[in-house]
Amino acid sequence: MWWIASLFIVPICAAPTAQNVKAHPNSRLMSNILSYVAEDSSACGNYFQHACGKYAVRHIDDPFTEITQMLDHKVNGNLVQLMYELQQRSQSPGFNESSVEAKALRFYRTCREAPQSTRKMEHYLRLAPPGEAIKWPQFMPHGKPWPKAQFKWMKSLGHLYRYGFTNVLVNVLVLPSSENSNRFRLDISMPSLEGDAHHLGGFLSTVATLQVIGVPTKSVLPLVRKIRRLESAIRVLTEVDDDDESETWTLRQWEYKTGYAWQDFVESIVGHSVSQHYLVQAQNAKYFTGLKRLMDSTDAEVVANYIMTRFMLYLIDDSMDSNEHIECVKDVRRTMNLASNLLYKERFLDPATLQQYTQEVTQVFEQLRRQFLLQINENRLGLTSEQNSMVATKAQHVVLNIGNMPRGRDHSSFVSRHYEDLVFPLADFDYAREHLNLLEFRTRKQVLQLDQRAPTLDEFFYLADPNTAMSSSPYYLMRVNVIVVPHGLLQEPFFAADSHDIFKYSLLGFVLAHELMHSVDTTGLHFDRYGNVHEIGPQISSSPSFEAGVQCLNRNNTQYLDERIADIAGLDLAYSTYFQNNSRMSLTDFTTIPPQQIFFLNLAQFFCGNGDPTNFVDHDNDQMRLQQMLKGFVPFHQAFGCPAKSNQPEKCQLW
Ligand SMILES: [Zn+2]
Repeated sequence: MWWIASLFIVPICAAPTAQNVKAHPNSRLMSNILSYVAEDSSACGNYFQHACGKYAVRHIDDPFTEITQMLDHKVNGNLVQLMYELQQRSQSPGFNESSVEAKALRFYRTCREAPQSTRKMEHYLRLAPPGEAIKWPQFMPHGKPWPKAQFKWMKSLGHLYRYGFTNVLVNVLVLPSSENSNRFRLDISMPSLEGDAHHLGGFLSTVATLQVIGVPTKSVLPLVRKIRRLESAIRVLTEVDDDDESETWTLRQWEYKTGYAWQDFVESIVGHSVSQHYLVQAQNAKYFTGLKRLMDSTDAEVVANYIMTRFMLYLIDDSMDSNEHIECVKDVRRTMNLASNLLYKERFLDPATLQQYTQEVTQVFEQLRRQFLLQINENRLGLTSEQNSMVATKAQHVVLNIGNMPRGRDHSSFVSRHYEDLVFPLADFDYAREHLNLLEFRTRKQVLQLDQRAPTLDEFFYLADPNTAMSSSPYYLMRVNVIVVPHGLLQEPFFAADSHDIFKYSLLGFVLAHELMHSVDTTGLHFDRYGNVHEIGPQISSSPSFEAGVQCLNRNNTQYLDERIADIAGLDLAYSTYFQNNSRMSLTDFTTIPPQQIFFLNLAQFFCGNGDPTNFVDHDNDQMRLQQMLKGFVPFHQAFGCPAKSNQPEKCQLW
């Protein structure tokens, strides 16, 4: 019985010793910090090695490679336990089969118990054809030709959008209108082929993908060549279009501009008829006119196979491909994020604890904000009073959302209403069927936003993309000026409510300061406190003092400039917030290490890890990030008595 086994096989990571559990949080956190330090590496020479040198040895057998993954693993372990408890409860007569609990359990059990055959791509493709009355080419009965003339690529993309499938030939998103963040619009642009899941794999892996789903062996090789050639031609088209500004158009105008009939496509996405005056946000007309020529001259069967192969890659990327407990819980988190948040909160955070955590986190954040407002007031950039007041107003209105829940609503009834129309009508377990069902559910929720006003801050929660949904890392949402702090972040060793402030400011404080700085990085500055595009931000970012600061930060060139800004300005803010307000607070009751050193050790250990250093998404690797943050940061060099180097660059000045 896997349910019983489940309690024993979920590894408890970084298991504290019995003695450790009883210790005061300060001693516990301190001894955890020291356990990673490699004393034989000099702090002044290679600080990453000094602070993280023993990380790999300590976590050699653990299934995570860094601290936020460790937190996620704990969350997942807890959710496995919760699923076990729900399964027990579901046996009793009073269990409500239409409750959120029942729906989450149902998908978890589907993941665990569905026959392997229901996970096969061929099965998916039979369930999700390219249109109402047409099959994918390889499913034609032997000897019967595929009805090419019936296949219309745009119609097919419109049809498959129901599963959230996009960014192939055309990219369609539901986004806040660029002029008014209170309104959502359909946003049409060319696809991006960057990122592993956004283009075909290598030649051999594409061959293997097509063989698995039953494309006859003799046709596979020529077909793979053709679809790869098609993708290369599409890539060329995306490279010649440099339009990066989307504009609002009526469908009629957009049709005129691109030479396509977009109405059917848009109608199948929004699910109702629309007039020629329907407004969309769109860009890349040049790409689309080129695409039309390309599509008109390409065999429909090649186009269909290209779309199908990308559709498979999308589906593979969106599921865990395993029926292990932890993987299935991740699947529930990614597909039913709001439900997972609620169930986790209700089971593992009692109201008093949650209230205490909320207060603590809010307090740290308010101190950071206060310090940032003081900094803005000092006006190091020499901004005009109008510019300064715009930045201050924006910072004043950044909202913290803990747990990604609508803060002004009763969570339980809100979440059950959210899942009201999610049903699993058939009793058997079929993984692909329910996965597609949940993809349709998620896309419907996205599309519904087009017909509604944007939620107020009290109603707001983020319809998270799958990767964000599975993660406990906090994030800043530019168009709503909100920082989301997932519940999973609020656990040791990241956060302990009763610990000394030095621990809170050096880790949680740094991470919150990093997110706050995203509101005023080179992208954030384009939006005002409501998330609307405005004039003043770009004025600031093109001012000589801001440009000089950014150029200085980019001395050691990075692709992820905004991340570097958030790191460096975030460290400065967290450090000054703590040390300007708490300089007299004694630490001597639990350590003799100076507070400045504790601050930098705890901060640095956010970046410890033993994963593949090339495996970082949208950020420089962790060692590089830490190095860039500490380089030229005087308090750091003072804390460890590092000799001033003659070639030491000066600290860059931004906010
Ligand atoms: Zn960031």
